[in-house]
Amino acid sequence: MPQKASARQGADRTVDREASRVSSSIQPPLPSGAYMGAAQRVYFRRALLEWSARLESQATTTMRHIQHETSNCPDDTDRATREEELGIELRARDRERKLQRKIEWSLELLERGDYGHCVDCGEEIGLKRLQARLTATLCIDCKSDSEMRERQRLG
Ligand SMILES: [Zn+2]
Repeated sequence: MPQKASARQGADRTVDREASRVSSSIQPPLPSGAYMGAAQRVYFRRALLEWSARLESQATTTMRHIQHETSNCPDDTDRATREEELGIELRARDRERKLQRKIEWSLELLERGDYGHCVDCGEEIGLKRLQARLTATLCIDCKSDSEMRERQRLG
């Protein structure tokens, strides 16, 4: 059955996606001045919104893949592979959604003037840490404390 072989080739190619251009954005230099002063708040707000928009377009791609996988199943022998791929797509979608919620929370903190300060102890989280992790809500000390507690709780 030669038709099946060519159908599968087409499906394989769709796995090869445009993920490569997502991670390659260059961050503009961080404005100097007061910690979480107006300039820095603008900077982080923009960074968060841009990240959110990137995630959103990624999510659209993921949804298109999911629809493609579920609507396009001509061959039983491909089903296991397809279901596995679908699982990966669904987990990716789930991660994207969780990240979006974190970004929304960070934007809300920014709005309130609480962004950049640890939600536990109120200390500054630090610009380096925030740049590396825009949605950080704990300072590094509280973060390692909470991770230690987590480990102890899990035994
Ligand atoms: Zn803290």
